[in-house]
Amino acid sequence: MTSLEKRRPSPFFKILTYTLLILSLWFLLEAFVAISANPSMITDRSVLYLLVMGGLGLLLASYGLLVMRRQPSIWQKLAYKPATTVVECTNQQCGFKNVRRFRKGDYVFKEEGVCPQCSSPMMISAIYVESEEKAKLIKRW
Ligand SMILES: [Zn+2]
Repeated sequence: MTSLEKRRPSPFFKILTYTLLILSLWFLLEAFVAISANPSMITDRSVLYLLVMGGLGLLLASYGLLVMRRQPSIWQKLAYKPATTVVECTNQQCGFKNVRRFRKGDYVFKEEGVCPQCSSPMMISAIYVESEEKAKLIKRW
């Protein structure tokens, strides 16, 4: 499980956000049409109601859109493959190797900690992307 999988937007959420957006815009439009036709209508309860509902709905809808924009697109998901980092002991006689998930800031020849076997400095020797069959995310689609 990766955090990328958990944050998938549901189609229901998208429909709700777009419906809310359209309704809010429609409410505001109705209110503005009424006010432009007769400016004293701004004190009218039904017009005020339309304005408040439209405004609140628009706020909620923009929040929904913002949340959706943060979701990776289907293309980004398909392109996503977990990267692996290999950290090796610099002592040739020791040869201790640690394979772990790639972390931001990793680069080849970067020194990282000391060897648990011989206390020599450890260094990143390789960073690679696993084969497509291993990229579990694709299976979900
Ligand atoms: Zn070592």
